[in-house]
Order: sequence, then C-alpha cells, then structure tokens
Amino acid sequence: MATYGLIIDGKKIVTDRTFGVRNPATGEVFAQCPVAEISHLDHAVEAAQKAFRAWSVVDDNTRKAKIHALADLLEKHSAELMEVLTKENGKPLNGFMGIGAGMELGGAIAWTRATAELSFSVDVIQDDENARVEAHRKPIGVVGSIPPWNWPLMIAIWHVMPALRTGNTVVIKPSSLTPLTTLRFVELANEILPPGVLNIVTAETGIGSAIASHKGINKIVFTGSTPTGKSIMKNGAANLKRCTLELGGNDAGIVLPDVDPKEVAPELFRVGFHNNGQTCACLKRLYVHESIYEDICSEMVSIAKKVKIGNGLEDGVDFGPLQNEEQLGFVCELAQDARRVGGRFLCGGEPMKGPGYFFPITIVADIEDGTRLVDEEQFGPILPVIKYTNIDDAILRANRSSYGLGGSVWSRDLEKAKQLASRLECGTAWVNDHAAIQPNAPFGGVKESGYGVEFGQYGLEEYTLIQTLKVVKR
Ligand code: NAD
Repeated sequence: MATYGLIIDGKKIVTDRTFGVRNPATGEVFAQCPVAEISHLDHAVEAAQKAFRAWSVVDDNTRKAKIHALADLLEKHSAELMEVLTKENGKPLNGFMGIGAGMELGGAIAWTRATAELSFSVDVIQDDENARVEAHRKPIGVVGSIPPWNWPLMIAIWHVMPALRTGNTVVIKPSSLTPLTTLRFVELANEILPPGVLNIVTAETGIGSAIASHKGINKIVFTGSTPTGKSIMKNGAANLKRCTLELGGNDAGIVLPDVDPKEVAPELFRVGFHNNGQTCACLKRLYVHESIYEDICSEMVSIAKKVKIGNGLEDGVDFGPLQNEEQLGFVCELAQDARRVGGRFLCGGEPMKGPGYFFPITIVADIEDGTRLVDEEQFGPILPVIKYTNIDDAILRANRSSYGLGGSVWSRDLEKAKQLASRLECGTAWVNDHAAIQPNAPFGGVKESGYGVEFGQYGLEEYTLIQTLKVVKR
C-alpha cells in the first residue's frame, strides 16, 4: 500500500499516525495518508513565512518561469496523477464526453500556464511637477489553501498558482477524502520551488479550522460548502484574514420554448450531470417551458439509459461512483423525499448494489419549488426538471435561493436570452451553456455562494495588497 508524507520546508515528513483513503469504486482503503499535528502546521507556517522573505521579492520573470516549469511537471506526470485521481475520487479516467481525470489534469495544466502569463504593472495615478503617485500590488504573505474533494487537483491548482505567481507562499490542506493527488503534486513541485514556498499538511479533522484561525496565515482561499465557508470566515477574523470563498450552489437553468429539444437536451444532460453532478456550478434545477417539457425530458432520459456506470479505471465507463458514502446517503435521502412528494422518476432513483458508492443517473419530473430536491444543493446525479408557464415567474423562482453561483438561459434568441440571463442573481450567467469556466474570465459566487473571484486578472488581484507610493518632488 502506498504511503505518503507531509511536505514541509522542502522535506518529506512521515508521521507516526496515518489515516486510510478509500477508493469509492470499491469502498476499500488503498493508501495511507499522514496525520498532521498542530505542531506540523506551526512548522509549515514558519517555513512559509521564512520562504516569503525571498520569494516575495524574486524577479517577476523567474516566478513566471517557475510556474511554467510546474505546468511541465504536471504534463510529465499526467498518467500517474490521473490514475491516483481516479482511485481516490472515483471519476473515470476519461468519462462521459471527456469529463474525467484527463480533463482535470488538462485543466490543471491550462490554468497553470494561463496564470504564469499574468502580471501586474504599476498604476501611475499622478505624475506632475509636484509629485508622482503610484499604486503597487504586493503579495499578502502566507496563503492557507483549503480545497474540496470534487475536483481536488484542479482546485488546488486554482488556489496555489495565483498565490505563487504574485509572490505569496502557501500551506495547503487538501480534503481528507482526496488528499493523494495533491500530496504527490506538492512533492513533485518541491523539486522546482525553493523550500518552504509550497507546503502541505493533511489530517482527517481539525487542521482546516486551525489554518483558518492561525495568526501566521494572512489569507485563506477556500472552496467547499457554505457552512464551512462561514466557519472559516469567523475563525479568520482572529487576524483579519483576507478570504476568497468559493462555496456551494444550486444553479438554475431556464429553457425557453424556441429551442430544438433534440439539439439542446444533450447539452442540458452534460451540464446537469457533469462529474456525476458533483461540480459546484452544475445545472442543479432545470426549468423547462411547458410546451417542450415532455420532449426535453424524454430526450434526456434516452441519453441516461445509454450511459455506462462503473469503476473509472475500466475502459468505456462514462460515470463512476459518488465520491463518498455520506454523499451517497444524502442523494438517497433526497430521492426518497422526492418520491414522497410525488415526483415522477423518469430513470434511476435507487442506489446500485455495492461494493462502491454507485447511484444511477436520475431524472425527476413533476416536482416543484419548496421540495428538498429543488431547494437543496444535491451534489449528485439526480436532477429535478420543473415545468414553467411564464418566464418572469421562472426568473423569480430561479432567484428564490440563498445561493448565487451560476445560472443559464437556453434559447435561439440570443438577445432576449442575454437580457433574461442578466436578471439572474448569480456570479456567472450563461446563454446556451452552463458551468463553462475559462482561465481568463472571473468566476465566483454571490449571496451565500461566497465572495471574491478566481481566474484571470481579477482573480490574481485577490492575492495582493495595494501599496500607494507618493513621491513629493521638492
Ligand atoms: P466541505 O466544506 O465539507 O469541505 C471542503 C474543505 O474544507 C475540505 O478540505 C475539508 O476538509 C475542509 N474543512 C471542513 N471543515 C472545516 C472547517 N471547520 N474549517 C476549515 N476547513 C474545513 O466541502 P466538500 O464537501 O469537500 O465540497 C462540496 C462543496 O463544495 C459543495 O457545496 C460544492 O458546491 C462546493 N464547491 C464549490 C466550488 C466553487 O467554486 N464555488 C467548487 C467546488 C465545490
């Protein structure tokens, strides 16, 4: 069985205590992960603080070259990282329409390279005979990164690369459910980065909140659930940490009557069941106009009936298991509740026989707002399809959520769809797509889906402080 170590100050540390990591396709423990004590966290923060002194003032081109070197390294080790990712997360190596471990590695590399190319210039606010006033972007210090289990490596990359690019140093703590790809990545990255610039600590519980309240950490970047985000913000207040919080979502998609169901249904299926529904900005509530409701439903069901579900390491598998047993239990609960309130199950609905945490693609029609399946973030392969008659009412219902991550409108009339999409209360609104992120466009949530953005220049700014420099010309 593979054993992993913490990486602190450039050194691998094998701990006395470990915890098991399960393969969700079999339910079996296949690797042992180190348990970090608080003393390990303190050591990692001290190493990051020490490394910050040099890394924060390194020549910009050197940092850019190092980030590209990290992308090269991800490319070189893709096959190895993909296999570990499939084993710990459950997603297929390739998967439905290419959504799998390969896509995650590809995304990690693309985001790394795009971030390497970003930079800041000094903003000259005034330059006359009296004075020169400049605004400079400076790194914040030690960044604590806490990613979730659904896209563990890619989200770690989203946190780490802009932090390093801007001259910060990092202590990362991956989800205890999916720590291995990140542990391996950090180990490899330390062949390129100076000691202490990127450190990793893992544990089953406790270390996340210790990071949030640690006085030596200056910023937190967190991706995960809304309750955890709130706890981090509270703990982070100890030293007024900057926070970027990418939290949960319950994204609505609204389909107008002018679409061709045959053309649109495969796209709706792809964005609704992206990564088995375990993507923050998946389409999670589908509102369809009554005139095309049955056609959209039956087209989506015909796709669902053809997909292959199984162990993601096997060839031709479209969807793997849910990542963990608790998530499977939650999806089962939502399915039961949807049945209780009279939802019409068009396919799926019952967990599959074990081993492993498998649940089939499930589409539930004739279900309304105010039920658990519609109102809660399911984060699994069960999609409610809700009928609407009036578009203003549909927009109102889409916005009646404490979440505000993404939303979409589907139509042939692009101008009308754009107007409607702009009325959605969410961080990103799409027309004829959903969950379509890219490394140069800002992405983030409003309302209880978080605050702050990631990606591109806007995202990079969140890893910096502004220092105003005024030179009086006497
Ligand atoms: P989670 O909140 O349970 O855990 C996320 C991370 O926080 C893990 O590393 C976990 O160990 C750690 N953690 C747990 N308790 C903590 C605490 N008290 N203090 C500090 N850290 C703590 O979320 P999850 O179940 O891993 O992920 C699923 C959720 O993440 C969904 O709600 C999903 O929508 C959301 N998500 C959001 C985005 C986005 O970009 N907005 C992206 C992916 C996932």
